Amino acid sequence: SLPVVALVGRPNVGKSQLFNRLVGQHQAIVSEEAGTTRDRHFGRVEWNGRSFWLVDTGGLVEDSTVPMDVEIRKQVVQAIGEADLLLFVADARVGVHPSDARVVDLLRGSGKPFLLVANKVDNPQSSDFYEFYRLNAGDPIPVSAANGTNSGDLLDEITQRL
Ligand code: GDP
Ligand code: MG
Repeated sequence: SLPVVALVGRPNVGKSQLFNRLVGQHQAIVSEEAGTTRDRHFGRVEWNGRSFWLVDTGGLVEDSTVPMDVEIRKQVVQAIGEADLLLFVADARVGVHPSDARVVDLLRGSGKPFLLVANKVDNPQSSDFYEFYRLNAGDPIPVSAANGTNSGDLLDEITQRL
């Protein structure tokens, strides 16, 4: 059985786009509309002779009766139970979100390894992602799911931890 790597993060940060980028096929639905990914999608990734399952966790549905903070905690707790490594994806264009520190605490407390991925760094020279150092969750990894910037470095980091 292959190790499982799960993408977690708020809606619209680009988890599905990153899934498609890393799996190399357009399997996940990328949408402007938050909460589009309802089911979990699994894709097999091979890199440097290592293989793993990548999971695009979804199920975050915009529901005014359930605060997003509660929803994302549920998503992260479920992923902690299922995955060997978690990729906490944030949006570098938005910057640090109030819920990010709480998610990092949850991940840290779980004892599961995780990486902090700053997506939407479309320009490799951009310093937008520096503010994620504030979360004290290790070096944020800047990537662009849209144009592929640093996706190889991210895959190196992932396979080193499996
Ligand atoms: P998810 O809800 O986290 O799965 O996010 P999606 O993958 O559906 O993407 C949400 C929106 O962000 C879509 O409009 C994507 O085109 C956009 N997006 C995703 N990745 C990038 C990126 O690297 N750069 C830019 N500029 N936009 C992105
Ligand atoms: Mg999605």
